[in-house]
Amino acid sequence: MLLPRIDNLLRYSIVSNFWQNFLSRIGVEVESTTETVRRSLKTARIVAFTGAGISAESQVPTFRGKDGLWRNYRPEALATAAAFESDPHLVWEWYDWLRSLIHAAQPNPGHLALTELQQRAAAGFTLVTQNMDGLHEKAGSQDVVKLHGDIWLLRCTKCGREGRNEQVPIEPMPPLCPCGGILRPGIVWFGEMLPVDEWERATDAAQSAEIFMAIGTSAVVYPAAGLVQMAKHARARVLIVNPEPSPADEYADWILRGPAGEILPRLL
Ligand SMILES: [Zn+2]
Repeated sequence: MLLPRIDNLLRYSIVSNFWQNFLSRIGVEVESTTETVRRSLKTARIVAFTGAGISAESQVPTFRGKDGLWRNYRPEALATAAAFESDPHLVWEWYDWLRSLIHAAQPNPGHLALTELQQRAAAGFTLVTQNMDGLHEKAGSQDVVKLHGDIWLLRCTKCGREGRNEQVPIEPMPPLCPCGGILRPGIVWFGEMLPVDEWERATDAAQSAEIFMAIGTSAVVYPAAGLVQMAKHARARVLIVNPEPSPADEYADWILRGPAGEILPRLL
């Protein structure tokens, strides 16, 4: 009956490698964190929460560091309702360029592993994403909760009508609604509220999750990042999959360091 106790040790230790080394040195067999997580995922109610990291692995630009500019504009200066109002043509040129990159991007093994996890999940699976590129759907995931909207969805600024549009490049520029209003990308801009329905679905799922996976997100952008805390307070076990340390680590029961495309397929 030693195994459950060792499992607990691993769960509550962020430095699980330390414990594994220690235990194996004194001759106790322990399963790896990957194996523990893989086994636990089989029966748990799961929420997978993804951020820019998993998209970056598919070459979708994240606008951090040296690649953070487009024609000398920062995204913070373009992705706002005020910028769109003052120059919809300029903002649409940027989104048209982004859409062309995203159109060419393919889901990576991390996206595909999440699709398979959803198909296998016996006790429930909710996929919540901060990404607006549609790669989860392209990989076959269903009912994705999209907290920041969808770049392939257009919404009329005059009558509010919404519709899908995957035209690359988009025409005319800027695109127009039959009512004559200018269409905008159906995504959440800086300073805008998250969509209420999606946020409710995300919080409901986080509060009833048994395992909450935070994948490719530094969990610093609120309110979305608050989901990790919410799940933890509701007693979910939290798995972090990220190449770098981040503030979300303090809530982790398990940390698997590395790109989603390498780590997630090992959990199937
Ligand atoms: Zn309209």
